[in-house]
Amino acid sequence: MKSTSKLTYKILIGMILGIALGSVINYFSFTGWIQEFFIGGVIEIGGRIFLASLKLLVVPMVFVSLVTGAGSMDDIKKLGRLGSRTFFLYVATTALAISLALLCAYLVGPGEGFVISSPVDFASKESPPLIDVISNIFPSNPIQSMANGDMLQIIVFALLFGLGTSLSGASGKRVLSIFTDLNEIIMKMVMLLIELAPYGVFCLLTKVFASQGFGAILPMAKYFFVVLFVLILHLTVVYGSILKILGKLNPLKFFKKFSEVMIFAFSTASSNATIPVNLEVTEKKLGVHNSVASFTVPLGATINMDGTAIMQGVATVFVAQVYNIDLGFQQYMMVILTATLASIGTAGVPGVGLVMLAMVFKQVGLPVEGIGLIIGVDRLLDMVRTAVNVTGDAVVSCVVAKAENQLDEEVYYS
Ligand code: ASP
Repeated sequence: MKSTSKLTYKILIGMILGIALGSVINYFSFTGWIQEFFIGGVIEIGGRIFLASLKLLVVPMVFVSLVTGAGSMDDIKKLGRLGSRTFFLYVATTALAISLALLCAYLVGPGEGFVISSPVDFASKESPPLIDVISNIFPSNPIQSMANGDMLQIIVFALLFGLGTSLSGASGKRVLSIFTDLNEIIMKMVMLLIELAPYGVFCLLTKVFASQGFGAILPMAKYFFVVLFVLILHLTVVYGSILKILGKLNPLKFFKKFSEVMIFAFSTASSNATIPVNLEVTEKKLGVHNSVASFTVPLGATINMDGTAIMQGVATVFVAQVYNIDLGFQQYMMVILTATLASIGTAGVPGVGLVMLAMVFKQVGLPVEGIGLIIGVDRLLDMVRTAVNVTGDAVVSCVVAKAENQLDEEVYYS
């Protein structure tokens, strides 16, 4: 335990050093060997290798872990109850997050008095029709789903495979024991990777901050800080209350243990790439049983994005104010509905929040090019909101595990 917390400090130091060094390089606009050899060479390679190794484990870990979890479930009804509780909490927290964001932005008025100084440009990708989003959850070729890293399809296949295993008597038991061993091995691989995190996090953050100075925040300060404020409010007050009231758990213990995962999410800006570390911490440090965590964590990385929803809420009010467009109550309701639904079908990867925002804007008739105004500060906000996104997944995992009697409180409070 002692060495684990030492590692957490090391990761924290990697994060602070990365932010500091990157910001200094950006501030002084260093060129020459610092840009070419250091940032473009050493740091770039370090960051890429670290990110690739994280992503490498995502598909095998989700598949093996979920087969192990579903395979050990003796009751399909239990799986149904677990699924509906999780889904309900994911959707409810996202809707709450966006409502909170709309309310705060409405009160503060981040777009009031904002003058567009240069022409903005943002071409949105075509969003897929809802019917495709739903039917695409069901895979026709599991190998293709894995090759594409399509999380919802992998989840569906792994659940089916796991259920098949639990219904197959002695053969199922034999296969399940292999998967249980494989799961242990992959967990060990994740632990090895976490050892490298201080350096990986340092490289990723140095690179981001060397190219994204804090200067970009100034013209967008009001928007930036409203989003940041609501993100912090949701993280502390909403998640803290959910843990305390619904889970009867101490939130401080949770945040202390989970901070490591938040740093991973912050530096990668990807809920998907954070899945292996999130699963590891949720199971081994927070005490959520594998049968719950293996389902809730990967599912949450795809369908539960409270932080992203918060950015969308504030961005909607901001752009409406900048373009002097009055949104009525019905349109606000539409924003909540579209943003919540959009988060279900989109993967947790960097910058996807802006694609979802384009869907929301089209739905309520806001100018999509308005997104061009907020792009400059989006990378920084993406990092913070991804940390919120993954925290929401783990909070729901703990609460659902507690309700299902699958939370080892001795581990949680250790
Ligand atoms: N980067 C976020 C995530 O992976 C999604 C987004 O808000 O763009 O969770």
